[in-house]
Amino acid sequence: MSKKALAEMISTIALAVLTVVYVVLYSVLVFANEKYGFSYLTSFIFAGGLVVLIIGLAIFVFLWINETNIQKGSLNENFYNLGKRIEFYNLDTFTKIGIRRKYQKNADRSFIVSYSPIKTNVIYESYQADQVKELYGYLADEFIAYFKNPNLAKIKPSYCFDKNSFLFYFEGEDEILEKIIKDFEEITFRLAKEHDIRLFVQPYFGVYKGNPDVSVFQAIDNAAIARKSGESRFDSVVFFDETKDTTTFENELSAIMNALKNDEFEVYYQPKYHLSHRTFVGMEALVRWNSPVYGMVSPVKFINFAENSGIIHDVDMHVLEKVCQDIAEWKKRGKRILPVSVNFSVYEFYCPTFIDDVVGVIEKYGVNPMLIEAEVTEETTAVNSFFVISILKKLRDIGIKVLLDDFGVAFSNIGNLKKLPIDILKVDKSLIDDIAIDHKAKEIAKAVISMAKAMNLLVIAEGVDNIEQANILAENRCDMIQGYYFAKPLPKKELEKFLSTNAFEKKEVL
Ligand code: C2E
Ligand code: MG
Ligand code: MG
Repeated sequence: MSKKALAEMISTIALAVLTVVYVVLYSVLVFANEKYGFSYLTSFIFAGGLVVLIIGLAIFVFLWINETNIQKGSLNENFYNLGKRIEFYNLDTFTKIGIRRKYQKNADRSFIVSYSPIKTNVIYESYQADQVKELYGYLADEFIAYFKNPNLAKIKPSYCFDKNSFLFYFEGEDEILEKIIKDFEEITFRLAKEHDIRLFVQPYFGVYKGNPDVSVFQAIDNAAIARKSGESRFDSVVFFDETKDTTTFENELSAIMNALKNDEFEVYYQPKYHLSHRTFVGMEALVRWNSPVYGMVSPVKFINFAENSGIIHDVDMHVLEKVCQDIAEWKKRGKRILPVSVNFSVYEFYCPTFIDDVVGVIEKYGVNPMLIEAEVTEETTAVNSFFVISILKKLRDIGIKVLLDDFGVAFSNIGNLKKLPIDILKVDKSLIDDIAIDHKAKEIAKAVISMAKAMNLLVIAEGVDNIEQANILAENRCDMIQGYYFAKPLPKKELEKFLSTNAFEKKEVL
């Protein structure tokens, strides 16, 4: 019997029972009235009120059952025609009834997986559309059967279908995620083969590992975002990357403008170590937004927006000003001064006052330009125009060294490297990560270092976080290294302490 029929039957019985209750109550009251002298009117109102209450209750029960039934069964009407598979919630019910409580309780051991068996943005011809529907139907049946396995009960699975993807929720360790992904891949390919589905079937999984600070709504969105990014580059399993999260600050532009006005941006410094001199020879200035509303915000969350909105120039000039202020103060206090590199976005090169502003700030604090380096990203090579090159040349004319940052992320146009007026090449962390564990990664890093040397560039490696990496880089004549192995980016006071007390300088630690 369908749930709808069941709901109707329950409400009919409820009504019949109510009628009987009414008659009985009424008779009792008539009897009581005769015996104890109640007025008929009082008795009638009493019984009537009771009946109205009970009817109200019955209507509520009916609507509630019927409503749940409608929500769960609404898949019947959608494009994919998942037939009677009412075990699949729709997104709204899945979120609010299916998983919200579970997620709130166990977010940090939960997984939300968004899954589709094909690229969802492809437009299918009508004959293929039938196959798409068919495939989704077979998958729905298999997934229902899969999660009914009693062995999986402890992972508390819930699933739903939304537009063109399935959503799964479960709790457990990483191994269970790996198993489910493996099984679903196997199921998908098997079904496509068994039913002769002639689509380009390729399973895509977007995974969001639960986080108690992230709402269930956001968590579901994040899983879908991860899946879509995988689809766009044929990457089957993609984990949502929190660091690439573009948190939207309410009215971002004015939030950043206010932050500038209220002096909420702080500069952290990360030391750079010279491998053969065995000493710290510089540091990189990295901005942090210490917001009273959002807390400590990482630059990855707002630099992109600042670039697109044009406010990046103000942010970078603010950072440069703080750096110059600090250098002037260190000079006054007779402290050791190391050159500081400042990140500049290539977008702001198009700001007509860029060079004048840089010169203005440096002069205002009487800082020797040799103490400032400009870090520009590898994107610069892609945007390689005469104009960009002319700006880089102007920076060097002032006495500011130019450092090409994140080298190797894109290798966008390696041939352009020879045309760029740069002094230092910074090898991206992604090229350094595996050098101590992967022979090929080591060879690539070696090749990049010797290429830079052949072009008379100094080389610095970023993201060095262990001694094995440091040793390999030293063996291969990398000039400088920067990374958590020595120090994370530090606030000014901590940096001063670090430089005066650290255990690395002049010591045979490498
Ligand atoms: P970047 O210039 O490539 O900076 C290096 C990033 O790697 C920094 O992240 C740093 O904290 C991190 N890092 C350094 N060593 C390690 C390590 O050993 N392990 C790991 N996991 N990470 C390491 P941060 O400070 O979050 O900055 C991210 C990016 O934001 C920077 O990348 C830069 O592109 C941009 N940025 C930061 N400050 C500014 C600024 O003042 N202006 C502009 N335009 N961009 C900035
Ligand atoms: Mg940098
Ligand atoms: Mg970098």
